[in-house]
Amino acid sequence: MINKKRMLKTFLELVQIDSESRKEKKVADYIIKKIAKYKLPYKFDKSKKKTGSEIGNLIIYKKFSSKNKTIVLSSHMDTVVPGLGIKPIIKKNHIQSDENTILGADDKSGLAIILEIIETFAEKKIPHLNIEAAITTCEEIGLLGAKFLDYKLLKSKSGIVLDSTSPDRLVVKGPSSDYFTITVTGIEAHSGINPEKGISSIKVSAEIINKIKTGKIFKDTTLNIGKIKGGSAINIVPGKTEIQCEIRSHREKIINNILNKIKTDLMKIEKKYKKINKGFMITMKKERIYDSIDIPKNEMIIQRIIAAAKKNNFKTLPVETGGGADANFFVKNGINTVNLGTGMREFHTKKEKLILKEFYKAAEIVFDTLVDI
Ligand SMILES: [Zn+2]
Repeated sequence: MINKKRMLKTFLELVQIDSESRKEKKVADYIIKKIAKYKLPYKFDKSKKKTGSEIGNLIIYKKFSSKNKTIVLSSHMDTVVPGLGIKPIIKKNHIQSDENTILGADDKSGLAIILEIIETFAEKKIPHLNIEAAITTCEEIGLLGAKFLDYKLLKSKSGIVLDSTSPDRLVVKGPSSDYFTITVTGIEAHSGINPEKGISSIKVSAEIINKIKTGKIFKDTTLNIGKIKGGSAINIVPGKTEIQCEIRSHREKIINNILNKIKTDLMKIEKKYKKINKGFMITMKKERIYDSIDIPKNEMIIQRIIAAAKKNNFKTLPVETGGGADANFFVKNGINTVNLGTGMREFHTKKEKLILKEFYKAAEIVFDTLVDI
């Protein structure tokens, strides 16, 4: 039903608009111009004050009838780096970049699908569920757009985020994520004259890092020590070192248990060095990045997507993920949101691709999910 040629053209145009995180305005301008002829109501929320983006999240309303249910469709406008001057190359079965940049299929494939669906429904008089298209900013820098979205602008109770790999995957379950930073405050001293007066925060950090289990701790739990920075000069016993870590789990209790165990270990180490010098200190700061999602399999939106896939001779199955997406924040705000793949592959790399067959299939599936007969 959708116009594949037009959707591909939209995609190719979108990826050629630079939109690294916080610089999404040109993409929003393109979208508004593209759908201007349908005279659909739209709004920007005020999230830019909090996200630091040029613009707020864009919400476009495509209503059919007040009697119908309303569904959120969502994808994000921003890309990761290097995302400037993208030159899409059309191959037989896929689109790729010239490998000097990413492609930006993450998430402009989702945007192109949403636009195509809005345009198709606007042109054909097919009954459909009311659509609230929530086009977000700053997804790639901690889901900031979705985090600060003004949810009062949405009345949907279900949603589809289009921001994953293959449309045979429907993400219905995902972990919570916490960032935590351990700061070791050692004692600075001259490394050549009186090193014995110092306590090296780097050496103590090594002790701490050795105690923290990383990688896949359980089937549904991962921990990563992602960044470490410390020291001020080569000839100074380092005074301060920061260890930045992330933990993800489908089970909240496990996150608490692991973090408590780490805290206990830190206290022991702190006690040991405080005996040598009272100025020694270890602190730990935790920040919730997103909450887990777990949408029940009998949920209306899942049932509709599976049925729509079947209609298109395709098999879409509910799956779990280890990652997070804007969907996590929609769920937190009471909208049962799943994440459907769009055909993107190897995203966040210069080898990023969009598999055309899957791209078209994803659009047909979402379209049929929304058709209301
Ligand atoms: Zn994405």
